[in-house]
Amino acid sequence: MGTNEKIGIKDSFDQLQERLKGSKDSFGRLMREVVNTGVCTHCSACVATCEFIEWDLLTEKPKLIGKCNGCGVCYSQCPRTITVPRDLIGRYQAAYISKSLIPEIKGQDGGVVTALLLYLLDKKLIDCAIATGKSSEEPWKPEVKIVTTREELLKTSGSIYSHSQTLIGLLDAIKQGNRSIGFVGTPCNIDAIYKMWKAPFGLVHMFMRANILAIGLFCMDSFSYEGLKSFLKTHKLTMNAIEKMTIKKGKMQFIQKSGEILEVSVHDLDRYRSSSCQYCTDLTSENADISVGSVGSPDGYSTILARTGIGLEVLLDAAEAGYIELQPMPRGKLKWVLNLARMKKAQLYTLRRRRRYTLGFEEPIPSHPPGGELVEATGEIKDTDTIIKQAAARQKTVKFSGLNLLFNQKEIEFRVINNSGSSLENVTVKISHITEFFEDHKWFTTVNVWYPFEELEFSYPRVQENAENEYLCEIKDPLGTLFTRKIDIKKLLAKLEKERQSK
Ligand SMILES: Cc1cc2nc3c(=O)[nH]c(=O)nc-3n(C[C@H](O)[C@H](O)[C@H](O)COP(=O)(O)OP(=O)(O)OC[C@H]3O[C@@H](n4cnc5c(N)ncnc54)[C@H](O)[C@@H]3O)c2cc1C
Ligand code: SF4
Ligand code: SF4
Ligand code: SF4
Repeated sequence: MGTNEKIGIKDSFDQLQERLKGSKDSFGRLMREVVNTGVCTHCSACVATCEFIEWDLLTEKPKLIGKCNGCGVCYSQCPRTITVPRDLIGRYQAAYISKSLIPEIKGQDGGVVTALLLYLLDKKLIDCAIATGKSSEEPWKPEVKIVTTREELLKTSGSIYSHSQTLIGLLDAIKQGNRSIGFVGTPCNIDAIYKMWKAPFGLVHMFMRANILAIGLFCMDSFSYEGLKSFLKTHKLTMNAIEKMTIKKGKMQFIQKSGEILEVSVHDLDRYRSSSCQYCTDLTSENADISVGSVGSPDGYSTILARTGIGLEVLLDAAEAGYIELQPMPRGKLKWVLNLARMKKAQLYTLRRRRRYTLGFEEPIPSHPPGGELVEATGEIKDTDTIIKQAAARQKTVKFSGLNLLFNQKEIEFRVINNSGSSLENVTVKISHITEFFEDHKWFTTVNVWYPFEELEFSYPRVQENAENEYLCEIKDPLGTLFTRKIDIKKLLAKLEKERQSK
């Protein structure tokens, strides 16, 4: 490479660094989102971009060899990152911060969705609205409603964090002869409308002539209704006791009618999360006419994206008619929407396949691991330095990714992840209880194939529930030990107690 070419790249790099100032997209983020999740294509664009990155032949990953200033240039070149606003939140014409000006509306955030529907009904611009309210028989169970009056509408404000069968409501409304419909739904609901209405073989498009104004909610996740119910039960609460649910900054709040608040990390609800949400990449209802969410706005306000011409017109008219207050969204605030949208798009990469094993300590101890006898490594002869480096790299192949006590602290749950980037075969996992110097209640299981970045989850009943013993976890493959870790119940109990107190 000639000197001029080098200078050319350096100049462009410096200019780009200047343009990306404040992006916080460091090499660490690239590793976290792309490399450690196994979606790196080994293209080396990051290496070619920055003098502080080199390609590590041993681990087959990019490696930092200098001080990263977090400029984001490498992150912006990587084919696997999503950096352009339109790719994150879709096309829109204007962004606003807004709230309802109708005093009776008690919305989830700004009450804007309900105020817009009220405006459309009052002005007879729609025949009905399709919204979601709570079932009268089962509190907090979502129930789709065909709404034609103010009284009915006011009962549908607020968010219910479970899937609602909104499309049944839409088709019923069309069958009943409604031709102009205001529809509210999550991004996945809006996608269904988009397909039924706009796609060549969409049912609504082909056979039913209806005009729909699609108001899409922002949505990061939803949970199974029964799951939320049983989660609350573990906190000695019923659905009936809950006045409002909110999700903000990774925390879910259950606000009780008594005024008390149960706040938990959204991750604590992972097991109740609807499976579809793990595969969902649309935060902001990209196919809606108007999108509404809470992120980016202060409490009591909603963030609005006007996407289509009709969407923008409805918003401006509703503001002029005194139903909503509308302020242009400052650029700095939109950053929060983009950040959350990026998290959602990237979650498809960070999605971890997980298999779960429950280990019964009554199992007989086999004379050798079911995966077969451990065998000597065969293959080419390598120099000592390479062997030492490879052995060190193998020790990092498996990582601990979680440790907890479940079911009234009777079971130890731990998670391990194959961090190597390639499949591991005939892996044996051994867990044993340590008393004094002896291991007893040993348990083996074999994993035939452990896929790259797949998480394995094990639960193992504590041998003596009240004793604060240690347990030993050992993971091997036919080439030798991949991982050993002592689980100290005393330390774990102290950590869990500390976490409980800090909540
Ligand atoms: C499952 C879910 C997840 C969400 N996640 C996020 C998030 O991560 N980040 C974010 O910024 N905003 C999120 N929102 C949107 C946010 O909670 C508010 O709905 C939005 O800000 C509008 O508030 P508002 O006060 O203007 O609406 P309101 O005037 O209170 O009206 C809310 C409207 O939502 C409808 N609705 C309620 N529950 C459902 C449901 N399950 N399915 C379909 N429609 C429903 C109601 O019918 C009503 O019309 C989520 C909403 C839902 C339903
Ligand atoms: S300094 Fe180099 S490694 Fe760090 S973010 Fe910038 S380009 Fe990437
Ligand atoms: S630019 Fe992205 S995909 Fe290419 S090697 Fe670097 S991390 Fe991997
Ligand atoms: S996260 Fe996606 S799939 Fe789940 S409710 Fe929201 S829009 Fe639907």
